[in-house]
Amino acid sequence: MAFELPALPYAADALEPVISAETIQFHYGKHHQAYVDNLNRLVADTDHADSSLEDLITSTEGALFNNAAQVWNHTFYWHCMTPRPSDAPSGALADAISAAFGSQDEFKTRFLAAAAGNFGSGWTWLVTDGDGKLAITNTSNAENPLTQALQPLLTCDVWEHAYYVDYRNARAKYLEAWWDIVDWTFVEARFGDQPERLKAG
Ligand code: FE
Repeated sequence: MAFELPALPYAADALEPVISAETIQFHYGKHHQAYVDNLNRLVADTDHADSSLEDLITSTEGALFNNAAQVWNHTFYWHCMTPRPSDAPSGALADAISAAFGSQDEFKTRFLAAAAGNFGSGWTWLVTDGDGKLAITNTSNAENPLTQALQPLLTCDVWEHAYYVDYRNARAKYLEAWWDIVDWTFVEARFGDQPERLKAG
């Protein structure tokens, strides 16, 4: 059973002007597809051929881990954005954010500062530890919080391929614009579902 590139939850041009169709065509159509293709080559005719992405993420390393995690991370990232965003987190998630970070504004400030300061290629995450406690964490390259038993609620891709077509080297401009298309409904659902893991991919 081969891994497949999951469908995008919106059209390629739906996130414009924040993220262009050209970026989606390369980021989703080329980069994400390549991780899927690499993963299928790596697991073919091995004991991992029927493993889930999460099993691969939590039990492998090297190229197998990198490609499995990048497939998961990108699927998750696409779902963290929407062409029809709500203004801000609400309900239990909003309460947890206030408890963890002091205010919604402080949460935004800290998340975007973490993302701006994530050296090199990687991901910035909002995670929960399973007890409903929130934290912001950076990972490098393909690394995913699932390996530390943390549940991802939100992620931002800060690899240059995520923003270089639209923002060149201005990562901070990408991050500010990206914040306005976060799908808080998705994040809230993740928080409500935790500690169950997302079946991404
Ligand atoms: Fe990416």
